[in-house]
Amino acid sequence: MTERIIDFLNTRRPDGPCLVVDLDVVRENFATFRRALPDSAIYYAVKANPAPEILRLLASMGSNFDAASVSEVELALEAGATPDRISFGNTIKKERDIARAFLLGVTMFAVDCVEEVEKVARAAPGSRVFCRVLTDCTGAEWPLSRKFGCVPAMACDVLLHADRLGLVAHGVSFHVGSQQTQLGAWDAALADARCVFDTLADEGIHLKMVNLGGGFPTRYLKDVPAAEAYGQAIFEALSRHFGNRLPETIIEPGRGMVGSAGVIKAEVVLVSRKADNDNLRWVYLDIGKFGGLAETMDESIRYPIRTSRDDGPFEPCVLAGPTCDSADVLYEKTPYPLPVSLTIGDEVLIEGTGAYTSTYSSVAFNGFEPLRAYVI
Ligand SMILES: *Cc1c(COP(=O)(O)O)cnc(C)c1O
Repeated sequence: MTERIIDFLNTRRPDGPCLVVDLDVVRENFATFRRALPDSAIYYAVKANPAPEILRLLASMGSNFDAASVSEVELALEAGATPDRISFGNTIKKERDIARAFLLGVTMFAVDCVEEVEKVARAAPGSRVFCRVLTDCTGAEWPLSRKFGCVPAMACDVLLHADRLGLVAHGVSFHVGSQQTQLGAWDAALADARCVFDTLADEGIHLKMVNLGGGFPTRYLKDVPAAEAYGQAIFEALSRHFGNRLPETIIEPGRGMVGSAGVIKAEVVLVSRKADNDNLRWVYLDIGKFGGLAETMDESIRYPIRTSRDDGPFEPCVLAGPTCDSADVLYEKTPYPLPVSLTIGDEVLIEGTGAYTSTYSSVAFNGFEPLRAYVI
């Protein structure tokens, strides 16, 4: 929570739920990543929050961009990035989208199988490709599962195939899982990356780059290690596995860049119980899973919630959204402590919501308009 956000809400008094993002915090987060990982190029993961103001700020500070679609490539270009500063990091792309990105000047693409390599070779000849390897995501609060990447042995074949098809076999990527709170998470993935580098070197192909992905956390209810600690742990793991021949590295922070910069203002619509003798209160907000808080799925991400009644006693409540879908419950398995005096009409502030909220909001489910966002 920043003074600027509080001032904005107090003066503008926007009606309905909204996200407010403070660019000063994004600026600080970028500078912190720079300091913590001074040898890594920063590729902001556009999907975390593609607001033009954020992209323009990051472009002006020298950030590069990780895009997952042609639209995200275009957003990065409109924000002032040149195409050589954009990586098409999605391993799942239509061939015509690869061609469109190539036409826009993008020449770096993620792959995780030979089928995708063949698309890139046809649609973006001569480009650099990096191959994503699977990681186990232990320690991540929002794991990215087995959807992306292949085993390291297959990554070698994928990159050899790329080389045969005239592409530049550029490197290896992985993602240790989003909201990764274990500093050691990068170690095993870097060991795998080193194996791929060695196997390719035996074939005369010298990979250059390791893409360390995202995973850098935002502080929600629990403390998380500082960016400096991540930088240190990653540097040690790189040295352990690559000795003094360190590859070029890039990081792709999304959540860690913008999560802490945003606050959602919402309102209590209803407080009720399911029976007269039931002492568990249900608190319904004017925002829920379909209004931007999709990451409460499986109660994965628990956001800090502030109210003007936080000096009184608290009790655990079920917290739910306003829509008519029974899946629109935020916290029930582990009820959320809220002030006993919290009542209908009260405003609540949901912190740490700068990432993965505004674009997850549905367009009009139940007639609720998409989450409004203000970037200040
Ligand atoms: C989503 C994503 C990121 C950003 O991850 P965070 O955990 O939000 O930092 C980075 N790289 C790729 C390829 C992604 O898909």
